Amino acid sequence: MTLKIFRAIIMGPPGSGKGTVSSRIVKDFNIKHLSSGDILRSQILNKTAAGMAAKKYIDEGNLVPDDVMVNLIIGELHPLKQNWLLDGFPRTVPQAETLYQKEPVDVVMTLNIPDKIIINRIKGRWTHAPSGRIYHTEFNPPKVPGVDDVTGEPLLQRDDDKEETVNRRLQAYWKLTQPVLDFYRELSILEEFKGKYSNEIWPHVHKFLSTKITPTQYTEYKGFS
Ligand code: AMP
Repeated sequence: MTLKIFRAIIMGPPGSGKGTVSSRIVKDFNIKHLSSGDILRSQILNKTAAGMAAKKYIDEGNLVPDDVMVNLIIGELHPLKQNWLLDGFPRTVPQAETLYQKEPVDVVMTLNIPDKIIINRIKGRWTHAPSGRIYHTEFNPPKVPGVDDVTGEPLLQRDDDKEETVNRRLQAYWKLTQPVLDFYRELSILEEFKGKYSNEIWPHVHKFLSTKITPTQYTEYKGFS
């Protein structure tokens, strides 16, 4: 019997809890997680041709060209003999189109957390730069506002955690991603999960995947990770 590999994509804005949800999927469904950012970083570390081609774009904060990305990701996915979950790819419609031709995706899950919630969560973060200790005004406040518990030194808000930076990143994400989501919606393989927190979304993701991944796919691939 030939087993069909289960192919899934997870999408979600920065700060949506995509990392948390992905690691729960990996654990509960024994599925291989591939992150395009991690793959690129490892290619750069190993000084491969793709890594060299990608480096300057990443350093400048730009997207790596589609042809470099597509070859790299398809090259990673093609030999896999187990169910997989792709994260960070595709980021453009041409990437989505080529991926769908070469590796027909079964489901695309998108985490839809209101921007307001993401902004509130991130902008509450304050860091003690020398130690890396992170506080949150709401969830983990320092004993004295604005001051590190251990050293008494002032806390700083990283540029990345400032409201205007988060806002800009979210706008850029939606602008870039909306056409990719539309592409998958047209194919009727897009599943949207709405909620405020990972814990709220997770049971729905779990239930959904339980209906999509067949028990045979799950057990047969269990030994591969
Ligand atoms: P990430 O860790 O997903 O934020 O990726 C880090 C960087 O790698 C991004 O800022 C892009 O420069 C590049 N990158 C990752 N995935 C892609 C992709 N699908 N298409 C183009 N560039 C990508």
